[in-house]
Amino acid sequence: MVELVETRKQLNESGDESNKFNALFASDEKRDYLTNANNRSHMLGILKELIDQEASFSLYCIDVDAFCSINRRNGFRLGDLVLIDLYTNICKYFPTAFVFRSHGDHFYVITREDTSKKIDDFPTFFDCESYKYSISCGMVQYPNDASTWEEMIHYSEIAKKDAKKIKGNSISLYQNVDVEMNVLVDYVEQTIHSSTDEKWITFVYQPIISVNNKKVEGYEVLMRWHDPLHGSIPPDVFIPIAERDGMITQLSKKLLRECQQTMLFYKEHFESHYLAVNISVLDLMSEEFIPFLRELFKENENLLERLEFEITETYYFNNFDIIEKKIELIQEMGIKISIDDFGTGFSSFEKLVNLKFDRIKIDQSFIRHLPHSEKDLLIINAIASLAKGMKLKVTVEGVENHRQQECLKLFCFDAYQGYHYAKPMFLEAAMGVFDEDIKRKFQ
Ligand code: C2E
Ligand code: CA
Ligand code: CA
Repeated sequence: MVELVETRKQLNESGDESNKFNALFASDEKRDYLTNANNRSHMLGILKELIDQEASFSLYCIDVDAFCSINRRNGFRLGDLVLIDLYTNICKYFPTAFVFRSHGDHFYVITREDTSKKIDDFPTFFDCESYKYSISCGMVQYPNDASTWEEMIHYSEIAKKDAKKIKGNSISLYQNVDVEMNVLVDYVEQTIHSSTDEKWITFVYQPIISVNNKKVEGYEVLMRWHDPLHGSIPPDVFIPIAERDGMITQLSKKLLRECQQTMLFYKEHFESHYLAVNISVLDLMSEEFIPFLRELFKENENLLERLEFEITETYYFNNFDIIEKKIELIQEMGIKISIDDFGTGFSSFEKLVNLKFDRIKIDQSFIRHLPHSEKDLLIINAIASLAKGMKLKVTVEGVENHRQQECLKLFCFDAYQGYHYAKPMFLEAAMGVFDEDIKRKFQ
């Protein structure tokens, strides 16, 4: 530790004396007690000064990935060492820059050099006394990206958050960040706990078509978030956040209550049709899920046979040991299990043939380039013979036009789903889709 502190002091002292901003660094009161980096109030002074002078410069915002868990698991001594080590490395990489620690593991770097071209050389993975840690880094440039010091700090944090979003251990430049998406993700993270009970979570139904008799055979129920501020928020944004924040089972329960109501309301219709619902592996792992299902359908157990749970391939196979028992219980209740987005998860055939499920849904990415993609045709062909051998039903997702439908005739699949037949729509509209209209799509 002493050695690291010494290195850090030398690095601080080796700054370019001629740099006119160095004068601002003279006082020790402006230094952080642990790393001897410059502190936050000092940073604000420098930022304001540079902006007053209309100087061009870059601001980097850096922190350690999962720093809390380093402290929690390994103690504060290692946490302190990691901070000193990171400071030392930052100073080595940016020898003429000003390096600040604002609080905790939050470091900032101000540099007037244009380092954006060589930013990819900046390491994001370090080794401190044999302990390996990674960092995330965001960078913003003045005056190109921002016009005030507040914006500079805010945007550098947005860029860092973007770097962390992938999986940490990376660097993002603010100019490349999809800012609108980040604002949306922030909003969903902040409001998801209060929104799941609100009216703005709704459901749409997309018809699934039987290839054999060219009629609607079932519907996939899909969740929608109609937000008063942000309009329609796609499930691809809010479902992963709900899974991360432990809210997904609450949403799935809401979805299943909706299914139960729909099937009761259109009782006769659901004697011959089914509802397919997307279920998260986290639902299956939750202790409350199966008792909830039993309670919900205790008066109408026969409806359970009209339900199909879609579980995404990757999640299904990666967690099979944990969810195997639950899957069995669910199938005993009469509910079917289908594997969603099939073909995207690289599951081994050996794993596949040993598992119990009722249906495969071929992912729409294999359909998109039909009839031109020979590679996709090969994959579809392999899936078709596998499903035949295992006596599984197959639904093809994302059928968008007649040419794709014609091409799929080569295989004897059971059902099609896609915009060619019907888009997801509100319940009453979905119940009003006429079989005659569907039949015409096959002519
Ligand atoms: P998914 O389960 O693969 O759902 C099918 C998605 O494909 C739906 O998008 C649907 O609108 C879209 N789609 C259907 N036909 C076509 C087509 O012909 N072309 C194209 N390009 N797309 C088509 P959506 O509703 O945006 O849902 C996206 C994903 O969000 C779903 O993928 C599903 O994984 C998830 N999701 C939606 N609702 C729920 C839910 O209630 N619970 C959970 N856990 N996940 C849900
Ligand atoms: Ca699905
Ligand atoms: Ca799918």
